[in-house]
Amino acid sequence: MKVEVITTGTELLLGEILNTNFTYLAQELNARGFDVLYQTTVGDNPERLEDALKIAAARADIVITSGGLGPTRGDITKELVAKFCGAELYMNLEVWEHIHTLLSKRNICIAANNDKQAMVPSGAVVLRNEVGTAPGLVLEHDSTMFVMLPGPPFELKHVCEKELFPFFEQRFPQNGIIKSHTLKLYGIGESGVAELLDDLILQQSNPTIALYARHGEILVRLTAKAAAEEEADRMIAAMQEKVEAIVGTYVYGYDNDTLPEVLGKELLERQMTIAFAESCTGGLASSLMTDVPGSSEYLKGSVVSYTNEIKRDVIHVNKTILDKKGAVSEEVALEMARGVRELIGADFAASITGLAGPGGGTRKKPVGLVYIAVADENGEECRKFNFSGARSQVKHRAAMAAIGLALERVKKCSLNREDLEEISNDHDTDR
Ligand code: ATP
Ligand code: MG
Repeated sequence: MKVEVITTGTELLLGEILNTNFTYLAQELNARGFDVLYQTTVGDNPERLEDALKIAAARADIVITSGGLGPTRGDITKELVAKFCGAELYMNLEVWEHIHTLLSKRNICIAANNDKQAMVPSGAVVLRNEVGTAPGLVLEHDSTMFVMLPGPPFELKHVCEKELFPFFEQRFPQNGIIKSHTLKLYGIGESGVAELLDDLILQQSNPTIALYARHGEILVRLTAKAAAEEEADRMIAAMQEKVEAIVGTYVYGYDNDTLPEVLGKELLERQMTIAFAESCTGGLASSLMTDVPGSSEYLKGSVVSYTNEIKRDVIHVNKTILDKKGAVSEEVALEMARGVRELIGADFAASITGLAGPGGGTRKKPVGLVYIAVADENGEECRKFNFSGARSQVKHRAAMAAIGLALERVKKCSLNREDLEEISNDHDTDR
């Protein structure tokens, strides 16, 4: 089933609001096996909307409009679709009653133009809208199905979930479904993943494999199209096995998992705690950790050791090292991790020191250079990063890298000492 979505509203074309109705519809329809092939946005202009309807009807089986079902003169979608389909409008008493009941419940005076919303094209299926006045409508003409949905996102979602999707299920039982599953990778770049998965990506058809880089992590999304959910699950599981056989060591979680959440889970499982010493990130790593409910169970506390004095006086970074190597150095990062771990009395500690920019960089120490160290009872390790991007991106990437490095270290914790040494020798430093 080929679908075209037409979103209406001049404010969309002015860039004043985000087209969230389209993203919602695209996600939901794709997941239900519809092929969303076109997306058009038009302003509140009758000629252009008529043109858009004509074009859409010629190339799609289902044309879905959003917006323009309101009571005002500028709301023209229903009138134009009805005209296009050669349908007359009639007063639908059920809709009229619903509008009147809803408005009187909300203590709103009924205006004459509210009756406009009770007008329904003859032959249309009414999609009830319990949370607003304008119902959704389905009208078929020639071989095209027109679906009209209200513009306010809350109402659109409500009508879709309660009325439209159940209607589609009945109407298109053979449609099949599309299901996605996302693997979340940390500690490797997008090109690195693309290279490792090259053969699989070249052979892909169903499921498909798509890579996305986001906030310093890589998402590998597997999408299967199948007749039923169980079949899609089986297809995804088989592909996931192949992908994980290649890049499994970098997979830290799935779908909605986040790095701070997974680190928290690993710490909780071991009943262990963590602390951070943050310089260039100004507390961002700790803040990301505390975005997770219940994080006080494992995040004991942190120090924003932004100046050299605080590095020296509060977390006891050796003054000679600080003077000799400079604040942005491997040695200072290691001292910071060691120092904050002792000060806070945590099982693990991570430290971040670097140059977030835009100024302050030199040839030897360019902007984006960040040292991150982690410490536990077995000692410390440090990794050097060269992040690109503006100040806020460098800060965010550095904070995520510290959480990622801490996660690696924590995961090693249940292994014995020999394993620990073996793994740290194997480290891929190209990150
Ligand atoms: P109303 O009865 O509120 O007039 P309507 O069905 O006529 O509803 P519109 O007037 O087109 O719909 O839009 C109402 C509001 O819904 C807009 O002001 C806007 O805030 C929001 N909206 C409309 N279209 C979209 C869209 N595509 N994405 C996100 N929000 C939207
Ligand atoms: Mg309107």
